[in-house]
Amino acid sequence: MDSGAEQIALLVRKVLEDMSVATTVAPQLGNDGVFSTIDAAVGAAQVAQRQLVAMSLETRKEIIAAIRQSVLEANEQMAKLAVEETHLGRVEDKIRENILCARKTPGVEDIQPVAVSGDHGLMLLEYAPVGVIGALTPITNPTGTIINNAIGMIAAGNAVVFNSHPSANETSRRMVRLIHRAVVEAGGPAGLVGMVHEPSLDTARELVAHPGIAMLVATGGKAVVDVVLRSGKKAIGAGAGNPPCLVDETANLRRAAECIVNGASVNNNIFCICEKEVIVVREVEEVLVKFMQETGKVRLLSPEEAERVTRLVVKDGHINAAYIGRNVQIILQDAGIAVGQSCRLAIFRAAPDHPLVWNEQMMPVLPVVTVETVADGIDFAVKVEKGNRHTAIMHSTNVENMTAFARAIQTTIFVKNAPCYAGIGLDGEGHTSFTIAGPTGEGLTSARTFTRQRRCVLAESFRII
Ligand code: NAD
Repeated sequence: MDSGAEQIALLVRKVLEDMSVATTVAPQLGNDGVFSTIDAAVGAAQVAQRQLVAMSLETRKEIIAAIRQSVLEANEQMAKLAVEETHLGRVEDKIRENILCARKTPGVEDIQPVAVSGDHGLMLLEYAPVGVIGALTPITNPTGTIINNAIGMIAAGNAVVFNSHPSANETSRRMVRLIHRAVVEAGGPAGLVGMVHEPSLDTARELVAHPGIAMLVATGGKAVVDVVLRSGKKAIGAGAGNPPCLVDETANLRRAAECIVNGASVNNNIFCICEKEVIVVREVEEVLVKFMQETGKVRLLSPEEAERVTRLVVKDGHINAAYIGRNVQIILQDAGIAVGQSCRLAIFRAAPDHPLVWNEQMMPVLPVVTVETVADGIDFAVKVEKGNRHTAIMHSTNVENMTAFARAIQTTIFVKNAPCYAGIGLDGEGHTSFTIAGPTGEGLTSARTFTRQRRCVLAESFRII
């Protein structure tokens, strides 16, 4: 090789080396909110959070509006990706989930201050940011939870670093990037929302222990809630549920049947709030089941078919993860049962001790248990809810019965005469939340949940009356 060619070769090698350095270093600096380490994500979030609080509330509102718009624009694509990657849920229902979270997650209006004026002057209570929040998100709702948490946490003036479920990594990464871009394009600081490129249980532990994290928010099962509660930090835990749906003899049975079918089949039952077992008073059981079949979306399993499906979806007393969130057609086909495309839910008459009554199945297979009286139904429902304090549903026209059930079961969400999802604002009143904090008591979390309260008092009279 002559010296000219050698020099060119050297130059090319140098450029290639520089490019490879750039690609390995770039994620460290953050690539649209995706970082190679937790430490880098938290460091960037700390800087971004300080920048956010220095900005006007108007800018913060514009950032929130931009997040809402961008996730709505990418909705269909994100819904498809979530189902493709996790194999959980239904695209059409994920689309509804994303719209719900984009539109009905409260923004900056949720942290309106409270003022009290009296003989001694004025007291102002403000909802201040906590700093950087570490948020652990579930496989079941990677899109909804990230949209919902990001809007609420940023609206309250915080930054957030997510550790998403490793099996929903690609969806979570794209969602974080989408939100990050929206924030920056609206004039917000880079790094305000972030995550690590390859989340794992190790990075989750690192996030929980990181000194730069001021608050932890866990949405998932009992294990992760316990982890954040043991952290020594301010923690919000949104845990598992097993929502019972009680139907008494006074219910409007046609409506109850439709509500239960729609609620229990939404997203193939992966929402934590979904009806997980029906408990019905004997007098009306037959009619309720008939009306459920008449929706055209239900397959009633014979006792022998129910046995086969149970053997498939319950392994050694635990729910078989392979069938969680799957379409009913797949589950029934694997059990050797043919069913048409219009079917969304399989139901079967179950003994009170059936494993699908006691375990959170998160699949469109719904047990129906018969009780003699509404009082028996309440007692049984309280037992199967297992103290999760999550969600319960009742169909009745007897106010006393509904009040008795609500008082006995003590759940965070209590839905009367509607599908479960009315309780999170889908075809129901009130804001939405995909982080329903039963164990720690914050309820349906929103921006105000992600704050700390600060009081300012002006001693002189500041009254204008
Ligand atoms: P999961 O508990 O397996 O995982 C949730 C998150 O926690 C994931 O990011 C996971 O990586 C992390 N995690 C799990 N164990 C951990 C540990 N020991 N240390 C650190 N991090 C850990 O739950 P999932 O299967 O992803 O989601 C389904 C569960 O979440 C169901 O039980 C459902 O009821 C519940 N859920 C609750 C709500 C709510 O608002 N209460 C909302 C959605 C889902």
